[in-house]
Amino acid sequence: MQPNVSDKILLGGDRMIGNETLRAQLADEILGGTLSHAYLIEGGRGMGKHLLARQVCAALSCEHPHERMLPCGSCACCEKIFGNKSPDIRLIGKNGKASIGIDDVRFLRADVLVPPNDLAHKFYIIEDAQDLTVQAQNALLLTVEEPPPYVVFLLLCENSANILETIRSRAPILRLCPVAAAPMAQYLTTTQRAFAALSPEERDELVCMSAGSVGRALELLDGRARKPLIEKRRFAAQAVEVCLFAQRRDTARRMELLSAFGSVREEVATKLAMMQQALRDLILLKKYDDAPLIFYADRAEAQTISQRTPIASLNRLLSTTEYTRSRVLRNANIRLALSELLLCDDRTHV
Ligand SMILES: [Zn+2]
Repeated sequence: MQPNVSDKILLGGDRMIGNETLRAQLADEILGGTLSHAYLIEGGRGMGKHLLARQVCAALSCEHPHERMLPCGSCACCEKIFGNKSPDIRLIGKNGKASIGIDDVRFLRADVLVPPNDLAHKFYIIEDAQDLTVQAQNALLLTVEEPPPYVVFLLLCENSANILETIRSRAPILRLCPVAAAPMAQYLTTTQRAFAALSPEERDELVCMSAGSVGRALELLDGRARKPLIEKRRFAAQAVEVCLFAQRRDTARRMELLSAFGSVREEVATKLAMMQQALRDLILLKKYDDAPLIFYADRAEAQTISQRTPIASLNRLLSTTEYTRSRVLRNANIRLALSELLLCDDRTHV
């Protein structure tokens, strides 16, 4: 039988939410002395890659590592690490460039030979590791393979597929998953006054828009960041309904929608991506009533639309929308691509 994760010590304790299995595994490895000397931490923007990396650094350096809280967060070492004051944590990033090149790695290879200053380990946090050039990755390989015993590498990336297999085979992947809606809402309610001040509908909408990313949710607490996104989502929801339910002859409504899509390529692609998210929700609801939704904050509304529509229509519209978006991204004529989605309709509607 699997041990219950709630009985285990979790890296980051209640300072983090979500990814309990991963955090329990890391706490085990740190307390058991079996931590690897290199990891790839994979996850989308705002998913907590930096925070997890800092927690690993602090847990390995903490002066009270065997208490329930790992790391304790308050000893001198933890304070230095979380206050970004330790010279033994090296941050390597693009610094405004398009990639991390071989010169950065040459510096790192010389630097690892210098023992840590005031911590027991020396940590190299490489941001945007997917943007290390192939040359840089090859140069890094030898050091990742056999680093001095005090060195730990934490490579942060959005997608580990861009990392060479030779590095991936030496640095286990820690994949961060989206945080579920209920714990996210609870976390935001207890830690963020601005969130608690929103209406219940606005809170649901914000949690849904964060797509499981705490960093994204915190950004969206700012109304100026939230408003344009809400408008795009409402537009996408309306576009899905028009495509599914407007009569084929109702060209006026479809033409109106076509104009409202706009002509800025990136924005059109974003609206189409949101339509895809909405359609995935509707398809999932055909199969499971309690499916986790990534687009609709209002489950009852999504269920009504899903029940009204045959699955074949949903699947067909999803594949047409995906195709349209890929054309828009490949520089096709936007109006023409959208016309084919909205006007040249061969779907069977309810
Ligand atoms: Zn500590």
